[in-house]
Amino acid sequence: MVQMIHIRSSRNLSYMGRVTLINSVLISIHSYWAQIMILPKLLLRRMESICQALLWKGTAKGSSPGQVAWENVCLPQSTGGLGFRNVINWNTVAMGKYVWAIAAKKDNLWVRWIHSVYLSNGNWWNNSALPNCSWYWKKIVAVKDIIKTKIDLSTFIAEGYSIQQRYAFLYLITNRVQWNNYVWGRLNIPKHRFIFWLAMKEKLRTRVQISKYDPSIDHSCLLCGDQDEDEQHLFFACPYSRSCLARLKTWLSWRTRAKDNGRLLLWIDKAKQIIKVRKQIIIVVLAALVYHIWLVRNYALWNHKVWCINHTVQRMQNEVKFRMFHIMPRKAKNVYRDWFEYTCSVI
Ligand SMILES: [Zn+2]
Repeated sequence: MVQMIHIRSSRNLSYMGRVTLINSVLISIHSYWAQIMILPKLLLRRMESICQALLWKGTAKGSSPGQVAWENVCLPQSTGGLGFRNVINWNTVAMGKYVWAIAAKKDNLWVRWIHSVYLSNGNWWNNSALPNCSWYWKKIVAVKDIIKTKIDLSTFIAEGYSIQQRYAFLYLITNRVQWNNYVWGRLNIPKHRFIFWLAMKEKLRTRVQISKYDPSIDHSCLLCGDQDEDEQHLFFACPYSRSCLARLKTWLSWRTRAKDNGRLLLWIDKAKQIIKVRKQIIIVVLAALVYHIWLVRNYALWNHKVWCINHTVQRMQNEVKFRMFHIMPRKAKNVYRDWFEYTCSVI
């Protein structure tokens, strides 16, 4: 697994590239083995720390807790996560199929053997593993005890066993977030999505955030030098980012007084008067704005220079224009041709 990460030169991958690598390769390797055997916790923890280091540092070495707690990263996108499987929980749930087979008394040799060796009293649901029994059996009993806290025996047997459904039932019941569809919108530029996601979770490493761990850090905004640099200031109380937002609102003929991400997305949500394609373009632009403000801020941090507003806005407009021409469906372009052509012509 570590070799695979090195081969793919993950340090050069964008955050979204790393997300795809973790989801498509690492987790699928794990999912295969997790479904056929109980994996040792030490191995699962190691796997988890490799995934964490890969996501936040782009390397398989070392450990990195990252800006967002791993249990939250492993939530579905609809509830504010990145949709990774939690390898430890997935292994637990995958082993639940043996718990179900024993409970449902499936007709196979292994279940019959378990009933005759460990369950001679027939009471599986209240069974406790004896100290001298095998490691494997103790793990299965432990999984049964986790399931037992959430569901009664008759319902458990009657519902059958799907690892996917049981995983969602045991570990993924959390509140949905309103901004999910906007952050992960299909038209959004991929590299913008991850920074937009961190901004919506208020987990970007702003100077105020960093100063919680290192009080010697200067709090002041790198773009205006006037106020503390936190998420509210950057998006968009800062005179620099506010000017960029104002320029983009004019560009898009976007008439709203909303001045922060939450209210801007709420406005998009409630705006009935504008058609879907235009909403999508506004979201692409908002994601681009958040990404570029963060980019300018980081450039200022490392180079002690702040790009002029014109330069930043033009970079954004060019990226959005390129994206719209290449990704937007032809049908949508036809429906919204006038506005689309005007928007791109004023760049
Ligand atoms: Zn500022």
